[in-house]
Amino acid sequence: MNYTYLHPRDEITLTLARIYRYKMTTTSGGNLSIIDENGDIWITPSRIDKGTLKPEDIVCVKPDGTVIGPHVPSSEFPFHKSVYAARPDIKAVVHAHPMALVAFSISKKLPDTKIIPQAFRWNGDVGFAEYGVPGSQDLGDKVAAKFADGFDSVILESHGVCCGGSNLQDAFHRFETLELCCKTQIKASMLGEPQSLTDQQLQLECKSGTGLKSFEYDPDMMSIKEKDLRNQLCHFVERGYRQRLLTGTTGTFSVRLDADSFLITPRPLDRFSMLPEEVVMVRKGKREMSKNPSHGVLAHKAIYDAHPSINCIINASPVNALAFSVCHQEIDTRTLPECYIFLREVGLLPFETTFNNHTEMAKHVSPRNPATVLANNGVMVVGEDLLATFDRLEVLECSAEAILDSLPIGGHVPMDAKVIDDICDAFNLEK
Ligand SMILES: [Zn+2]
Repeated sequence: MNYTYLHPRDEITLTLARIYRYKMTTTSGGNLSIIDENGDIWITPSRIDKGTLKPEDIVCVKPDGTVIGPHVPSSEFPFHKSVYAARPDIKAVVHAHPMALVAFSISKKLPDTKIIPQAFRWNGDVGFAEYGVPGSQDLGDKVAAKFADGFDSVILESHGVCCGGSNLQDAFHRFETLELCCKTQIKASMLGEPQSLTDQQLQLECKSGTGLKSFEYDPDMMSIKEKDLRNQLCHFVERGYRQRLLTGTTGTFSVRLDADSFLITPRPLDRFSMLPEEVVMVRKGKREMSKNPSHGVLAHKAIYDAHPSINCIINASPVNALAFSVCHQEIDTRTLPECYIFLREVGLLPFETTFNNHTEMAKHVSPRNPATVLANNGVMVVGEDLLATFDRLEVLECSAEAILDSLPIGGHVPMDAKVIDDICDAFNLEK
């Protein structure tokens, strides 16, 4: 969905509903604003239920302080206004109290955004503003000073977080990606030491998948099968977002159309709402004209070329699997028979493999080894169709969560070699 055509009232209402729906704010905490070309600031109202907010509830504050609308503006209006004054390039602000970011806020610590490439790409380094009384100009000054220093995301001591952006979606993606990063760092710390990416590795991710030649695509030539797969792909991406297996900025899906071509998610993309016409066709190694495929496109192509029975590939960063990924740890599947049957052994590949060693990637990921952890880059699963691959991703994330949940009660006890051997015999699995 393109938010460019929305009025600030509608964009704020939709975005706040999304933040509330996915438990990134309580009903009383959090406020959003947009500054328009006249200098008017559109902001959420004070003391209105976030669960039932309507566009007509949004308040407009004129540059001279006149308030237009049925409610009082958010009590945090002073820091929104101060951020806009300090940084004319910022046109929207998201402020809320999501749990993992609050954990950093009350521990007076900064998250390491270099543990996952998306977090660093969206947030860079994160600022930390000293405590100020909520709603005070003192808090506004402290937050604005950090934005003036160049930070786009600032954690507020004993309070929450404030993210700015060139538009509201930009600010929201920054906010959601930072919350994922914080949750991951917290979960990963139960497993071991989260590893940071080097500047060289972060650069590698940025450049990947660019420079693919294009071909002229004619939508009138679209087959029924292609229409079906474009729509299915959108459905599963949206479902992945709803199930929190993806965020707005993380996750790549592709599906094979025939021996020479596959469909893949575009870049940039908000996984919350993808349309069939946004999906990118890759045919004989060329991309559909005027569209950009996701970063993993070359790795996906190598896997399709090497394994004719693989028809779908998903990269995703659900938080529990991501905790293993940033600690460079494999996920043990000897937990439940279902996990072992669906996933077999889940190995670990270095971060660079996705970007510059596609032969190795295609050797490692196969019908025999359909799931793998990618260091600092989430997980990859493959399968015979979209549903089976999506299911595999859900099983992998559940397995990762169960292992993490078992840690405070003593850790899991893997099924032994004899049990695994019996499972292989019973389900006819290749050993
Ligand atoms: Zn607040």
